[in-house]
Amino acid sequence: MDKKLIIAIDGYSSCGKSTFARLIAKELNYIFIDSGAMYRAVTLFCMRKNYINFRSLNTSAILSEIKNIRIDFVFNPDLNEYETFLNSENVEKEIRGMEVTAHVSKISQIHEVRERMVELQRQISVSEGIVMDGRDIGTVVFPHADIKIFMTASLDIRAKRRHSELKNKGVKIDFDEIKRSIIARDIADENRDISPLRRADDAIVLDNSRMTVDEQMLWIKQIIDNKRNGS
Ligand code: C5P
Repeated sequence: MDKKLIIAIDGYSSCGKSTFARLIAKELNYIFIDSGAMYRAVTLFCMRKNYINFRSLNTSAILSEIKNIRIDFVFNPDLNEYETFLNSENVEKEIRGMEVTAHVSKISQIHEVRERMVELQRQISVSEGIVMDGRDIGTVVFPHADIKIFMTASLDIRAKRRHSELKNKGVKIDFDEIKRSIIARDIADENRDISPLRRADDAIVLDNSRMTVDEQMLWIKQIIDNKRNGS
């Protein structure tokens, strides 16, 4: 039996981390966790309660309710995918919208929110083998992960990918607005005080600007094989 691995994938917004992580998990029959979806779900919870809007942030109200926020990933057999549930409600679509995207970096800067998310992420059984993507997986959540990847791609490529993803979903949005949103999130994620986005010293960098998904899969399979063969 092959040893079950923990694979941590961190990197910038809209690099295709979740797509890549999901495919690796499918290939290996591992659990896939999109940790960004968890921060997005908390953000949606706070937006609905009006604890965050474009003018204000009520941190103490958020903290008093943080333990009441339940996040689950539920398998949808029709889509053959896991979907994000917030307190038993399917919020998969809503958490991907521009409004949640605009607020999420503020929510993810709150120390207690991060503490709670990291606690939940670590509770997920690792005996199964796991692929988790985010910003602090290799640095904070699983510092002893077997494989750590740090993903990046050029800003233009990331914005183009995000633009076509939203267009396919029927969302009309200006290309420059997407670019601005990506830059704003990069800056917020890299410069926050707690668990800022950074490459773990032992992470392997993957710049996928000019790579297809198939090429990325070939690349990671080689890394997994090397790990298993002890090289
Ligand atoms: O990965 P995604 O773009 O969905 O993440 C949304 C936001 O959640 C990020 O911009 C970041 O602020 C936050 N996040 C985080 N730590 C993680 C995953 C996401 O702070 N591990």
